[in-house]
Amino acid sequence: MDEAEPFTYDGGRVDPGETQNVRYTVSETYMGDPVRMPVTIINGERPGPTGFLSAAAHGDELNGIEVVREVAHEWDHSNLAGTLICLPVLNVPAFLAQERYLPIYDRDLNRSFPGNPDSTSAKRMADRIFRNFLSPCDFGLDFHTSTRGRTNMLHVRADMEDDAVARVANAFASNVIISSNGPSGSLRRETSEAGVPTITIEMGEAHRFQRPLIDKALDSVRSVLAEFGLLDTEVVRWPGWRTVIENSDEKTWIRADAGGLVDMHHDRGELVHEDDVICTIGNPFKTEDTTVRAPFTGLLVGVLENPLVYPGNPLCHLVRLDDRTRRAAEQNQTADAQQLGLS
Ligand SMILES: [Zn+2]
Repeated sequence: MDEAEPFTYDGGRVDPGETQNVRYTVSETYMGDPVRMPVTIINGERPGPTGFLSAAAHGDELNGIEVVREVAHEWDHSNLAGTLICLPVLNVPAFLAQERYLPIYDRDLNRSFPGNPDSTSAKRMADRIFRNFLSPCDFGLDFHTSTRGRTNMLHVRADMEDDAVARVANAFASNVIISSNGPSGSLRRETSEAGVPTITIEMGEAHRFQRPLIDKALDSVRSVLAEFGLLDTEVVRWPGWRTVIENSDEKTWIRADAGGLVDMHHDRGELVHEDDVICTIGNPFKTEDTTVRAPFTGLLVGVLENPLVYPGNPLCHLVRLDDRTRRAAEQNQTADAQQLGLS
């Protein structure tokens, strides 16, 4: 069997069997002080692949931070075969400001990869992260939430036409996978194109730690580590049912056609049938409500939380379910409800 090898980055070195907590300089402030990103590198005693877990590329998306911290600091790594690079806060300036974008001209770090050491501040930061901690990996998981004012059920976004990416996505064991290669400059697209198959996990809303979603995501991380052989005490999980959304006619953002106050009738992750009322939009006098109905039977992957809309604002994200998947989902939801004593 091969020997485990040290992990090296920008002058640093983590030997097999060693864990290092690093504050790695990605930029400098107006005061000339270092902007330092927390990184935990866990190099197992046994050889194996290297995977990264990253969160808060958008600074106000917090759920993933807790997932990455628990993997790094609460799990027992004595049996780990391979290396984990844990990056709980990618976008430090945005995290400090509790904003989505870098506060420097509102740049999106998640459109700045793979970065460039001679370009904008965002691209320089992206370059230091990408070169040292993402590109040496064999696979990656990048955690996000919905944007402020909306919420998502836990789901995966991944380029399912890329077999290596599909392997990561399938192992993550979520019910819904939305397939696309992702926007240019996004972390998952650029790492995947550089040979590090990466998926995005969307979970919940910004500015929150949502424990049920975090626990579900942790189970899925175990499943991915089992698939890649880093944890031989775990198994690859099957989520019970799954739908992979590949075409644009299988999903839609339903947008408000009227401005007003929204009364949402469903939660994220709920099934709605064609023609069901999803929500109504009212005015301050509670007259002339506008009724919004489901254009097809499907699952509400995302819904708004902030009930105020202008015409054109998204109300919800609906993905189509075929009959077989819908029945499996219904059975699962009934079983879940029974487990929780809800029915
Ligand atoms: Zn995000």
